[in-house]
Amino acid sequence: MKKPWLQWFDNEQNSVSSQGKHITWYRITPFILLHLACLLVFVVPFSQFALVVCVLSYVIRMFAITAFYHRYFSHKSFKTGRIMQAIFAIIGATATQRGPLWWAAHHRHHHIHADSESDAHSPQHGFWHSHMGWFLQDKNFNSRHEHIRDLNQFPELRWIDRYDIVFPVLYMIFLYGLGTALNALYPRLNTSGLQLVLWGYVISTVVLAHVTYAINSLAHVWGGRDFDTDDNSRNNFILALLTLGEGWHNNHHCCPGSVRQGFRWWQIDVSYYVLWMMAKVGLIWDLKQPNQVLLAKRKLSKVSP
Ligand SMILES: [Zn+2]
Ligand SMILES: [Zn+2]
Repeated sequence: MKKPWLQWFDNEQNSVSSQGKHITWYRITPFILLHLACLLVFVVPFSQFALVVCVLSYVIRMFAITAFYHRYFSHKSFKTGRIMQAIFAIIGATATQRGPLWWAAHHRHHHIHADSESDAHSPQHGFWHSHMGWFLQDKNFNSRHEHIRDLNQFPELRWIDRYDIVFPVLYMIFLYGLGTALNALYPRLNTSGLQLVLWGYVISTVVLAHVTYAINSLAHVWGGRDFDTDDNSRNNFILALLTLGEGWHNNHHCCPGSVRQGFRWWQIDVSYYVLWMMAKVGLIWDLKQPNQVLLAKRKLSKVSP
């Protein structure tokens, strides 16, 4: 018999064949508990140091999601070595958005079917469904392996993907140890193990998750369009700031293989700036630039709202 607690840690134990809208509630219990844990802000004493850790934790993990889960694993918009891809697969896994293979497989499927009947998370099927309903459903629990044959050849990535929940747990243990040690060494920081778990993981992860989900939901309904794409993708300045560049979603759907998503000088794309610096020091290479011919062909004469 399947043990629910074991299924939380081993995705292969958890594979489902259901194709309907069914949600297995015990499977998503950790997701619900993560949200409820935010209420601990009313109980656990706060400090400015905790806020700094929260923001740092958000920015580093958002970069791992946008630059690596999205631009590298999903779109191969630059190249790097196995060690770098494993490091960022692990940092990305601490964001608790499943592993790199699951993430990339569903995202590649989205680009093929964007805003059509087959798109797993189009707002055409309801805003909340596109935001979070889709991945809570059993039918989207498994990876779409047909889309990730290139990534499946790396055993270390398969392992990280299979046991993805291990990494948030290890991250929480690390934060608890850090808070406890700092409290002993520098009591003036007013921090504690529980405080850093709450702000560095729980709050930071919930905000990071919903901002990421907003690219599937809001970035297909809210903002302007510079390019004539076959979907409803939008460019949105606020989402671009919050997601380190992913808010230029209409640009991205026009040219998915481009490492850059901000095409104009004012279209802030922090992930690209960091990737550019990483390329300068040789950590990554072969950065793909947008196809100018394609951009010129699809350019809308007037930016549509
Ligand atoms: Zn999209
Ligand atoms: Zn994409």
